[in-house]
Amino acid sequence: MAVKKVEKIWMNGKLVNWDDAKIHILSHVIHYGSSWFEGIRCYNTAKGSAIFRLDAHLDRLYGSLKIYRTESRYTRQQMQAAIAETIRANKLKACYIRPIVYRGYGDVGVNPLQCPVDTAIAVWEWGKYLGAEALEQGIDVCVSSWQRPAPNTFPTMAKAGGNYLNSQLIKTEAIAEGYVEGIALDSFGNVSEGSGENLFLVKDNIVYTPPLYSAILPGVTRSTVKILARELDYEVVEGPFPREMLYIADELFFCGTAAEITPIRSVDKVNIGTGKPGPITKKLQREFFEVVQNANDKHGWLYFVYND
Ligand code: PMP
Repeated sequence: MAVKKVEKIWMNGKLVNWDDAKIHILSHVIHYGSSWFEGIRCYNTAKGSAIFRLDAHLDRLYGSLKIYRTESRYTRQQMQAAIAETIRANKLKACYIRPIVYRGYGDVGVNPLQCPVDTAIAVWEWGKYLGAEALEQGIDVCVSSWQRPAPNTFPTMAKAGGNYLNSQLIKTEAIAEGYVEGIALDSFGNVSEGSGENLFLVKDNIVYTPPLYSAILPGVTRSTVKILARELDYEVVEGPFPREMLYIADELFFCGTAAEITPIRSVDKVNIGTGKPGPITKKLQREFFEVVQNANDKHGWLYFVYND
């Protein structure tokens, strides 16, 4: 799944050619993982190209920077305008958007404070993250032998580059074992999330999802699913649950910007429910696509890119 080049990448206020979007090898971020980023989707909706929940993503980005005592050179308004500008410059209708703030070239020690806070925005066309059939058929996953970080180690509410070393351990182990993705437990043994997705579980018509203190990234799609599920009159419980709940769940699904709402049909080769995507998962998928495809947007979640 090699990235498909587009024309321009935005770097510190300028649109540069894709092949010229380079940084110095001694940039702090390369050595110490000091970046904070977002993954956002722009959908080609029935009413035009629209970014899904841009405000929520920018909230999280600026929150990640605050946790790490890092000041952005750009205001939220400037970032918002720059994201739209980058999509327009590449004439894309639908794309994945990757704004990234990082500690650049300056000093080489661990202390980041002498390194500039640089910013880039890349966009590219990205299909179905967990495979073409994943959304319809569901995926087979395992419980990872790797856990998510313990509290007060790596802050999981920040979407920081360094956190994704943990995600890479989860993902590569899952692939080595023949699975599409892994579910990690937190350091207390409760269910946390996938390497790049939040998790939902349905049991007896109640929709469960792990809480913030189970070492999750507070996903924008997770927040969306909670709202949609409550609007469909399901009880949504945010609370810790043990590993064994996975095996006896009626339905399970991952959600995330890249993964959207992806049903899970088995965990550790144990079928979930009937081993097929369940009815509540499908209903939530339908509601989600009603917003991002049909632009049926009563929540004001869509930001239209070409009508500025
Ligand atoms: N958890 C992790 C570790 C992630 O990387 C992502 C993707 N950003 C998510 C959850 C889902 O978050 P979102 O819905 O905001 O994409």
